[in-house]
Amino acid sequence: MNPSRPLIGALLSFLSVSFVHTPSPALAQTCGSAGLAMQVLGSGGPEVEDKRASTSYLIWENGRARVVLDAGGGSALRFGESGARMSQVDVFLFSHFHVDHSSDFPALVFSSWFGDRTRPLPVYGPSGNEIMPSTTEFVHDLFSDPHGAWRYLSEMVEPNPEGTYELQPHNVAPTSVPVLVFRNTGMAVYAVSVVHGAFPALAWRVEIAGRRIVFSGDTNGEGQGLTQLASGADIFVAHNAVPEGATGLERRLHMPPSVIGTIAANAHVKQLVLSHRMLRTLGKEDETQTEIRRRYSGPIRFANDLDCFPLN
Ligand SMILES: [Zn+2]
Repeated sequence: MNPSRPLIGALLSFLSVSFVHTPSPALAQTCGSAGLAMQVLGSGGPEVEDKRASTSYLIWENGRARVVLDAGGGSALRFGESGARMSQVDVFLFSHFHVDHSSDFPALVFSSWFGDRTRPLPVYGPSGNEIMPSTTEFVHDLFSDPHGAWRYLSEMVEPNPEGTYELQPHNVAPTSVPVLVFRNTGMAVYAVSVVHGAFPALAWRVEIAGRRIVFSGDTNGEGQGLTQLASGADIFVAHNAVPEGATGLERRLHMPPSVIGTIAANAHVKQLVLSHRMLRTLGKEDETQTEIRRRYSGPIRFANDLDCFPLN
């Protein structure tokens, strides 16, 4: 008797169980399969040392990933891990075009080139200025002939009959009060300009299935626009990029916990989610929470990659 045969049989049986019949975790959708949910794809800032994907969020409705907001580094992998498919997405929103909010956009687009999307994809983001491209410039700088970095995908912006689908970028004009930007079945999307140093930036509100999901994006919290936008939000995602007491450039770009707490309280938000966590705020959660608690009494959650917030 050849003693190796049972071993080989056992090994084959193990392989068939482990690799054929077990669903891949990368394809298992666990968020938003029924009802409404917001999923954090990237909870980090620009630093890779935080071991988090950079900013990105998904809104699920009944198993469909309907809205993507931002696509920072690492978030394309998280998008795949979430089980989302680009063919499901109704609209792609950008808060602004810093690398940690936009660098995985071409990765998602090229991934979707292999998928089954045929309908156009609207892409909304800020207008540009002398230091940042507008949303239309950003998309064309990536994909257009003859100067786009990935002009081999120019069919995404200059459709031809053999192309897959068309990216349709739009610039949102600066606005100090929330404006309706996009509508789709059962969904309305509003934006307002926020202050992020000299970089054009938007905060976003998605109204869907009777709920309001609001994303601050990166901002120092100046002005009343964000409070108006966040009014009555079921979830307010605020960026915890700097600790209390931050000064100089950090403070000109980002809001400390006291400002987040004031906005959350004044807007009467029902739940606060803190994301865009950086080395300078990670480990300071107790202090951050204490500062916010002085002003805001609702639930506070610190986000991690792939966290799911159901809204049923
Ligand atoms: Zn950022």
